[in-house]
Amino acid sequence: MKIIAGNWKLNGTLHALRHMIDALDKIDTQNTIIICPPYTMLCTDSGRISLGAQDISIHSNGAYTGDVSAQMVADCGATYTLVGHSECRQYHGDTNADVRAKASHAIAAGLTPIICIGETMDEKNAGQTMTVIEQGLGECIPDHAPRFIVAYEPRWAIGAGITPTHDEIAQTHQFIAETLTRMGFAQTPILYGASVNAHNAADIMSIPHVDGVLVGGASLKPDDFIPIITSVK
Ligand code: PEP
Repeated sequence: MKIIAGNWKLNGTLHALRHMIDALDKIDTQNTIIICPPYTMLCTDSGRISLGAQDISIHSNGAYTGDVSAQMVADCGATYTLVGHSECRQYHGDTNADVRAKASHAIAAGLTPIICIGETMDEKNAGQTMTVIEQGLGECIPDHAPRFIVAYEPRWAIGAGITPTHDEIAQTHQFIAETLTRMGFAQTPILYGASVNAHNAADIMSIPHVDGVLVGGASLKPDDFIPIITSVK
């Protein structure tokens, strides 16, 4: 059983989400399916599909115009939230310390945070992939976190149509699993994300310590998303 999460980014409509939920309702799968649409769609009745936010505020409430808190997301019935996505780091300046604070808010509100970590192309070229991963895990995971998911997303591969090699994914996921075990979080699911599609999903999810995938572009349409979900049991 795998976890398949879709990140809709700044895309979609309520109609498109309802269409996706109806289509997903008909497929035969034991996998856990999560969709993270924009906030405006989070209060949708999603049946057996779980909904999550793409980000949450670093604050609980107050004079923070435009923010949405973890509690508000939970109030809608959503059960997950991404934190630390590459685009939030790039465009909103989220640091590892911010991600840790957001993950704590998520947990306090009853959500499961999906903590995203991964290296940029410059960091990869400088041979810093494992250092960035180790630092990300060390700095983003709240102490004694009772539940969370890690999404390893090489930032250079997101939306780029390219992925690391099978061996590179195997090495990074092995390293993440060992690091989490050392930190006392051995049972944490680890997702791979970045340019997953129907052609590479089964191979990527056959790699040890890949417990599922986080999918961006290919999660927007049932015709693209369903083959990813049904590619694994
Ligand atoms: C993402 O946004 O988390 C992502 C993995 O995007 P894509 O699948 O489009 O690379």
